[in-house]
Amino acid sequence: MARSGKEYLEALRHNPPNLWYKGEKVEDPSTHPVFKGVVANLARLYDMQHDPKYRDILTYEEDGKRHAMSLLPARSKEDLARRSAAYKLWADANLGMMGRCPDYLNAVLMAYEHSADFFGEFADNVRNYVAYVREKDLATTHCLTNPQVNRAKPVTEQPDPYIAVGVVKQNAEGIVVRGARMLATLPTADELLVFPSTLLKEGPGADKYAVAFAIPTSTPGLHFISREGLVGGDSSYDHPLSSQIEEMDCLTVFDDVFVPWERVFILGDLQRCNNAYAETGALMHMAHQVVVLKNAKTEAFLGLVSLIGEAIGADAFPHVQEKIAELIVYLEAMKGFWARAERDAQLNKYGLMCPDRGAIDGARNLYPRLYPRINEIVQQISASGLITLPSEKDFEGPMGPYLEKYLQSATLGAKERVQLFRLAWDMTLSAFGARQVLYERFFFGDPVRMYQTLFSVYDKEPYKARIKEFLGWSESPKAEAVAGG
Ligand SMILES: Cc1cc2nc3c(=O)[nH]c(=O)nc-3n(C[C@H](O)[C@H](O)[C@H](O)COP(=O)(O)OP(=O)(O)OC[C@H]3O[C@@H](n4cnc5c(N)ncnc54)[C@H](O)[C@@H]3O)c2cc1C
Repeated sequence: MARSGKEYLEALRHNPPNLWYKGEKVEDPSTHPVFKGVVANLARLYDMQHDPKYRDILTYEEDGKRHAMSLLPARSKEDLARRSAAYKLWADANLGMMGRCPDYLNAVLMAYEHSADFFGEFADNVRNYVAYVREKDLATTHCLTNPQVNRAKPVTEQPDPYIAVGVVKQNAEGIVVRGARMLATLPTADELLVFPSTLLKEGPGADKYAVAFAIPTSTPGLHFISREGLVGGDSSYDHPLSSQIEEMDCLTVFDDVFVPWERVFILGDLQRCNNAYAETGALMHMAHQVVVLKNAKTEAFLGLVSLIGEAIGADAFPHVQEKIAELIVYLEAMKGFWARAERDAQLNKYGLMCPDRGAIDGARNLYPRLYPRINEIVQQISASGLITLPSEKDFEGPMGPYLEKYLQSATLGAKERVQLFRLAWDMTLSAFGARQVLYERFFFGDPVRMYQTLFSVYDKEPYKARIKEFLGWSESPKAEAVAGG
């Protein structure tokens, strides 16, 4: 049932994740200087589900109970539209800057549940697990990639057989896993999904890495080891994003972690691991949420640069107008991907309505390349305004009158102008902003291999046929030569 922020906080305090920060265990993330902002933000998102203004967008009703809209089974295009309206509302609440809003992985879980037969003997485990997540309205995170030790060698040829997560043993109660995954964002989630993403190659010993399961983030032996925090401080004026949306990224270590059978979804089946995302529709649904999120993010950037251009009078210059227009083009392209993903959606073989793969692939491959350019546009238009940024306290101190005079702008008083530019700085230039660029480049996978996959799965035949027809080839020349020889 759709939960409130209070319920999320209670669950987190009752069962905190095994979270490590600078050598120390984080006992209560909700009060820790680095984690408290994102925890409060998540609580705010859950509270929105109960706000009469948003309730009907963020939740749906079934058997007299209200559940998170991102777990609504997608059976029709109307369902997709309802789902994306919910994605957009949460995305806008964070200017599209929070990658692990719980709706992201709910989209995956919804697809797995609907296509549960794909999981064969584990199908009921998947159904029961997703029903449990829906009932409790849990936040999940995931860790997919193996530690970056030696990418030139397969998982079976790393210096230790348990660098990547592998199964150590199994018994009547469940399995024991050991190893690590490179990265999980949002360790303050309730649950961790462990699915493989990179292609598992056949070979002796490879099947022990073919495993998928879900466990609470508080499971004994599971450790989230955090990077350095990016929170600049508590003030939402000075640090508008990092004070609220520092999701955190962690190395995820599995020190002989026990996973009960009911939480195991794949075991020893390479094919199933390699096909799980595409064949169940999880890939398309996950990326559907992403396309909506990136629409929200691009809109936020357009609003930002438009206000900055106005504020300092730079939008009078043709090249600045051109740069803002460039952003408009990007936004319209992203809107187009979103609309077509839903318009051309199709049922998969399990009866799940899946957004169109062409539109989804277009968006998820283009955005990692657009995003650094979007950042560049903000920097080119903002120039020194992006760095001459006193803090809120400076306005209250003896230097305040100077700031009021010299940092005023054509349309804004000094305090608003600095606030606007501080947001631009946190979106693009602060440590938080820099992480966003790395995130956009990689979070959905290595862009190089994503292009390679697109090349191999995309149906190019109709376009080849048109060229052949234009050239007047009734059959391919090679076929004729063979026939003639
Ligand atoms: C900020 C951030 C947050 C993230 N959050 C999450 C998360 O919550 N959960 C999660 O599971 N993952 C997360 N990721 C990880 C993300 O999925 C990976 O970064 C992505 O899949 C690329 O893998 P990698 O980082 O291991 O890069 P690598 O695979 O190590 O690639 C490094 C370089 O080597 C090249 N390379 C490596 N192997 C090959 C190959 N076989 N062929 C050709 N080139 C190759 C790549 O092109 C790249 O240039 C996050 C990443 C970032 C940056």
